Amino acid sequence: MSEQPVRILLVEDEQHIAQGLIFNLEQEGYQVVHAVTGEDALSALEGNTFSLAILDRMLPGTIDGLEICRHIRRNNPRLPVLMLTAMNREQDRVTGLAEGADDYLTKPFSLDELLLRVAGMLRRSAWYRPSQEQSQHYRLGNALVDLDTGQVTSPDAATEQTLTELELKMLRLFIAHEGKILSRAFLLKSVWGVTPDTETRTLDNFIVRLRKYFEEHPSKPRFFVTVRGRGYRFTNPA
Ligand code: CA
Repeated sequence: MSEQPVRILLVEDEQHIAQGLIFNLEQEGYQVVHAVTGEDALSALEGNTFSLAILDRMLPGTIDGLEICRHIRRNNPRLPVLMLTAMNREQDRVTGLAEGADDYLTKPFSLDELLLRVAGMLRRSAWYRPSQEQSQHYRLGNALVDLDTGQVTSPDAATEQTLTELELKMLRLFIAHEGKILSRAFLLKSVWGVTPDTETRTLDNFIVRLRKYFEEHPSKPRFFVTVRGRGYRFTNPA
């Protein structure tokens, strides 16, 4: 086996949870770098490349999980982020997703569930690894999207953003089914691989994020349209 080990950043201040996670992640063959504080996490991110980050939301010190997530999104938009939250409040999950997390788990979670999510996120991330040879550009409104790397550029404003793995996956799915109504169940299954009835807030939040990237008026979307009671429809009139 010459393959590089998959390196995961784990940011978790509760020792017993951290130890259990490290043990089990290492059993799965992952390499784990453990940080207890946000400050430690940021310096770990500077010196290493990671395949995935698991971030506890509440941390001692001044930098919490959300702040780390923001930092990751600025510097490494495509690194998959799984957020752990002790709070079973809808608002906290939504905040995490709005800051760019790809998925979240509410404590207490089952270890099996976490390992499944991690494996799923790594698998998806491997599918969407950008190919060096070709780039596929797609025009949406004023923006040009590289469907391999997720880079979004707008010609008039000199802004450049990069979609996260899952945002890109969802966009590609919409493009592949342009003009058709996609049910929430279908989108959840295709993008996250999860059972439809639970995680609809996650989905709604990703739609909000896509609208922010591409819609001139996100509250009056032209491209990513809600079809009440049925799901979402993507159209690109250009
Ligand atoms: Ca904590």
